[in-house]
Amino acid sequence: MRGAMLALSDIQTEMQQSSDNARGPGALIETLERLRHDYAETLPAKIEEVAAVARMLAEGARDDAALADLRNLAHKLAGSGATFGFSEMGETARKLEHLSDIALDHGGPLSDRSRQEILDSVVALQRVAALGVDTAIVSPLPVPGAKGEPHAVLEAALNRPIILVEDDDVLAMQLRGELENFGFSITMLRKPCELRSALEAGECSAVVMDVVFEGDDKVGTDTVRQLRDDGVLTQPVIFVSGRTDAKARIAAVRAGCDAYLQKPVSVTELVDTLDRFTGPDDTEPYRVLIVDDDPAMAAYSDAVLKGAGMITMTLTEPLDVLEAIESFSPELILLDLYMQACSGTELAMMIRQNQALAGLPIVFLSNESETASQLDAMRRGGDDFLMKSMQPDHLITAVVLRATRFRALRALMVRDSLTGLLDHTATKQALETEIARAQRNKDPLTFALIDLDHFKSVNDQYGRQVGDWVIKSLARLLKQRLRGVDIIGRMGGEEFAVVLSGADCETARGIFDQIRVAFSEIVHRSEDEVFQVTLSCGLAAYPHYGTSIMLTGAADKALYEAKRAGRDRVVVSQAPIRETVLEQIC
Ligand code: GH3
Ligand code: MG
Ligand code: MG
Repeated sequence: MRGAMLALSDIQTEMQQSSDNARGPGALIETLERLRHDYAETLPAKIEEVAAVARMLAEGARDDAALADLRNLAHKLAGSGATFGFSEMGETARKLEHLSDIALDHGGPLSDRSRQEILDSVVALQRVAALGVDTAIVSPLPVPGAKGEPHAVLEAALNRPIILVEDDDVLAMQLRGELENFGFSITMLRKPCELRSALEAGECSAVVMDVVFEGDDKVGTDTVRQLRDDGVLTQPVIFVSGRTDAKARIAAVRAGCDAYLQKPVSVTELVDTLDRFTGPDDTEPYRVLIVDDDPAMAAYSDAVLKGAGMITMTLTEPLDVLEAIESFSPELILLDLYMQACSGTELAMMIRQNQALAGLPIVFLSNESETASQLDAMRRGGDDFLMKSMQPDHLITAVVLRATRFRALRALMVRDSLTGLLDHTATKQALETEIARAQRNKDPLTFALIDLDHFKSVNDQYGRQVGDWVIKSLARLLKQRLRGVDIIGRMGGEEFAVVLSGADCETARGIFDQIRVAFSEIVHRSEDEVFQVTLSCGLAAYPHYGTSIMLTGAADKALYEAKRAGRDRVVVSQAPIRETVLEQIC
């Protein structure tokens, strides 16, 4: 199923791009060395450009345009020199920038002293540039949260290996079946003494374990304590036990168990607990938009961030920033403070004028010389500053910190509190964005509406809290079965929506049918009763339906059709669209 879904051009390119560049610090150093080498090759020409302007100024009359040129060229050299390890050259360029600034500010004819200083400064520039690189590249440390291999991470999230130690065969089989529905892969053991070799033999992200074996209520805890002491068991351990007394719970805590669930085990609670301990759902690499009109600088930041596993887009035309934000949906913008077409500050203000982008982190890249403009830029919407002379790990850490916080805040704002899925408004917005993307890339897209069947009677029979667990279990299943890039929202009550980018309705039908079956197999628990719930699903695909209104309308109709036809089914809307409407779309 996932194979077909991942054969989607844009996502694949992004992931490929990202994983190609995530081959560890060795590969990153190699790339940075190459960029340094390329930069060194272009340096004589750059300096000659500066020298030519300086000579012209020294020989001719005052020329403000030429002075501004000199200032700009020196500024760029100062920034790029610091970035590419020519720090003394960068420092010398910064002095030249300063000289041109003073000359520009003073007005009137250039004094002989100024001319001489400018010429001396250019000579110094030529001299130190010839000396070459004077700063080593420091290899960045791995950064938590900046995941290296999106593909692998996605796989791991979907297929988390769990060891289940349980001597009650019936219970073990049942738990296994239910956990597999949620995308865990289960290794079953009947005796605690088998745990050591199982842990040594294979991968395991958590252990779920009974406490009492053959009447002995110490076996479970003793085994865990011993394996913890020996350093064999470092993974989280979840005990499931029929005993609820404090003594048993304390023994479990002492043995080093992380959670204690009571039998009969509610699979939703177990899955929730496993989710909590086996890592966040948040496995998507961060998306960073790099805006710098100097291609060499843009390439540098790009290499560093990609090296840390992030997905990047570089933009050397700052005025295209809004289009880039729309098409790329960055979680952070790295912005050069000084650019030819407009300043980073202006660009930040332009971005902030859009209400929806008010929270998007903007981090400026600037030169040491710009303290005043740094403060000004902060006031006008920047979040942070990084010096161009910083080492790669500094850049990565700053970006990860900001992007993580942005994700967390956005999650609070747009997510539904019961399920953690996107809320109604955010889902609709995401649908609009995805349609625009599909239009640009000429890709299909399927919109799904899912509604639980006879849910009112679940609430009536088992109570609202149990109903909430059922809603959560569907949310969890959707997250497990779909890709991180798919949009999953709770539209309200027991109705969900999914946007599958890149999937036509036949592909989507297969996926949702599998989800439907898996969901119907989940056994929900209420005290001593067990029950199952089914779902109905309506699908509509772009470009057959070309707008969000048409897609939601058609999916809603298909859902109604599924309900009418007996529920527990997936119906695809293929109703013809009137030509007039089609014309509007095209
Ligand atoms: P159908 O198969 O036609 O969809 O029948 P249904 O009973 O699921 O549909 P109906 O729309 O009549 O009932 C939906 C129920 O969902 C009614 C409402 O109390 C319940 N519900 C809505 N939101 C929540 C929630 O957040 N938690 C719980 N537990 N129940 C909810
Ligand atoms: Mg319903
Ligand atoms: Mg409903």
